[in-house]
Amino acid sequence: MSGVLKYPVLTGIRRMFLLVSPNETSFEKLEDVPNYVDEAVPFFISLVLLEWAVLYRQGKKPRLNDALGSLSNGLLSLLHGLLFRSTELAGFLWAYTHFNVITLPWDKPATWVLALLGVDFAYYWVHRFGHEVNFIWAAHQTHHSSEEYTLTSALRQSALQKYYSWVFYLPMALFIPPSMFLVHTQFNLIYQFWVHTETIGKLGPLEWILSTPRTFEAEREDEKVVYGLVHNINTWEPLQAQGPGWSPGKPRLGLNSDIPQIEPNPVKYDIDVGVLRTAYIWAHYLIILLVWHPMLAKLRHEMSSVMMAGNIVYIVYSLFVFGSLYDKKWYADYAEMVRVWLFVVIWISGIPLPVSESVCWFYATCAVVWTLGVAMATVSNSDTVNKKQK
Ligand SMILES: [Zn+2]
Repeated sequence: MSGVLKYPVLTGIRRMFLLVSPNETSFEKLEDVPNYVDEAVPFFISLVLLEWAVLYRQGKKPRLNDALGSLSNGLLSLLHGLLFRSTELAGFLWAYTHFNVITLPWDKPATWVLALLGVDFAYYWVHRFGHEVNFIWAAHQTHHSSEEYTLTSALRQSALQKYYSWVFYLPMALFIPPSMFLVHTQFNLIYQFWVHTETIGKLGPLEWILSTPRTFEAEREDEKVVYGLVHNINTWEPLQAQGPGWSPGKPRLGLNSDIPQIEPNPVKYDIDVGVLRTAYIWAHYLIILLVWHPMLAKLRHEMSSVMMAGNIVYIVYSLFVFGSLYDKKWYADYAEMVRVWLFVVIWISGIPLPVSESVCWFYATCAVVWTLGVAMATVSNSDTVNKKQK
């Protein structure tokens, strides 16, 4: 995310709701297509904050641990893009080179509309297969693993889904120009963001033609929807959210007898880690989300792939540790101490890091604090053991 917007705020808001004209979003060359998804990040964040403000006003507390779990999955799903082209675009370009029959004119609104409908239709099938084919559900279930229905759960994306979704878009390569395809796959993703919230009510006649927040809501108005998976994962650690949730030998759509009786107000997974730890986890998470990852995205073409892979491994490990800290796992404190010390060692050894010096000093301070904290905890533990033995 760059600090300065490259376009007016109103344009950014319009883009969130697909209120754009074909004229302003049609391009002849692929390289000219803006990175709409990256450019939307400030608006994603603003809308999340707005939603939290609304929840507060309604007397509900936004759940920060759930939000972090979702955002960690979102970031995890973006890491692929640091080393490779989007699988959907790569697949499309391959099919376009080999099988294109006729390329519709890129500057005609009709082509724009056709591409919009084509991407929407293909995505419908990507999503439907995601729910109906078990090994594909193994990837897609990540997106449904939050017990909340909030804007952050929209960002709870599967890191694995992209490895099959590209197949569904291939037929479009027969006639749609690649630049148009790239425009609409991005808007398709951005549009899905705002429909993931409970804070917006019904939208009148718009409900008939568009996906709205209520499209996913109650078929029966008298029953409150219970969000999440049938067997909730009960962790904020994103790697565990990215796994299979099926077993062989069952019917295609699963066994109804496997589904437990759902309580109307189930106790949600929640562990209180205190204000200090919450602030600590979020400070480190936001450094990676707002400083580190954007810098890597910027350096994508200059940085060696080995160096990039090293950065990705470090970020994945960080997300694992943040989740473990929130889960209060027995190893979490040690894992975090190792993480910050590793950073300090890399910094001292002179390997270039894509963050500013103040971030490095912050890490160094954390390394010292963790060492003291863990040492003190060990001493007081052994004291207790000694006293018990006496
Ligand atoms: Zn789904």
